[in-house]
Amino acid sequence: MDQRKGRNDTPTPGSLFSISLLGVPVRFHFTFVLLAVFLVAIGLEGPSGAEAAIYVLALFSCILMHELGHALVARHYGIGTHEIVLFPIGGVARLERNPKPREELWIALAGPMVNLAIAAALIGGAAAMSGSVDWNSVFARKSGSLMGQIAAGNLLLALFNLLPAFPMDGGRILRSMLALRMGEDNATAVAARAGRALAILMGLFGLISGNFLLVFVAFFVYLGAAQESAAVLGRSLTQGIPVSAAMVTDFRTLAHGDSIRDAANLLLATSQQDFPVVHGDQVLGLLGRSTLLRAMAQHGPDGYVSGAMDRDFTTLAPAMDLSEAIPLLAETTGCALVMDQDRLLGLLTKENLAEFLMLRRLGMEKPKPQIAKVG
Ligand code: ZN
Repeated sequence: MDQRKGRNDTPTPGSLFSISLLGVPVRFHFTFVLLAVFLVAIGLEGPSGAEAAIYVLALFSCILMHELGHALVARHYGIGTHEIVLFPIGGVARLERNPKPREELWIALAGPMVNLAIAAALIGGAAAMSGSVDWNSVFARKSGSLMGQIAAGNLLLALFNLLPAFPMDGGRILRSMLALRMGEDNATAVAARAGRALAILMGLFGLISGNFLLVFVAFFVYLGAAQESAAVLGRSLTQGIPVSAAMVTDFRTLAHGDSIRDAANLLLATSQQDFPVVHGDQVLGLLGRSTLLRAMAQHGPDGYVSGAMDRDFTTLAPAMDLSEAIPLLAETTGCALVMDQDRLLGLLTKENLAEFLMLRRLGMEKPKPQIAKVG
């Protein structure tokens, strides 16, 4: 099914404008833009004015190149990138699908490697100009040259991202290596636990040493680790399960010649909220509860359902993986139609899906309905 493309790539809310780099959409979250403007403004006021501003902009560009590193290696495995979003604590590359463990290893490594390469190029470039490597300029925090400071910033970015804990790249590297031995779910649990432990240590250390930036970063690391393990729980509940296992198979339909009154009666008589509108075996549209009520208010009960129904509805193949169907369902107002070619097999509604997931979590899987094979 090709509805996946274009539907799932809605931009992250709060992202301001979009540019395209090497074919990857790059967006800037408004908090990032505020921070960048703020830092550059502070830099310009300081004693070394322009230099501080250039430093900030250079490091942000390096973060962007880090994310592009992820995106380009993902593309090598045939995985597109919906978008790169720059947040104040770093960038995020949203991939079109979850990579397999072996792919994830290289995709995750690519980001920190970009920063290491930039640092090596800057240090090497400076050494070529002066004839010897000047480590002081890299590691002396205030006295270093601008090039040395940018190199040091990149080394720090690489090291921080290589910490073996979620949600850092190092956590993904750890997960992908563990996944080859203990399965993806357990590997994720270990990497997420490492992330939470690291966040707590970092937060405590920040509090004790009075470094509140570290406390701030620790907070985001903790949130990221928790989010990742929740996402994986969701995935493990839905991956490998076909849409047909969770769909409603006992449902009512409307004929295209039915009136809004007929539809309203059906809405009252059943617990169903969305009704496929059919002509014989052919599905013409979908009439949801809110559309029905609007039609009733605007045109009264005597209008035809075919005049009010939505012709642009979401269809899913019965064999489609639930983990892929959920994002599509999330974008509908009510339900998606499960269709095998032109034949309507069932409805996938949010309510039914929630029940299905709850039952699965309790280990009482609903028996899978038999699907008649066609052709
Ligand atoms: Zn990264």
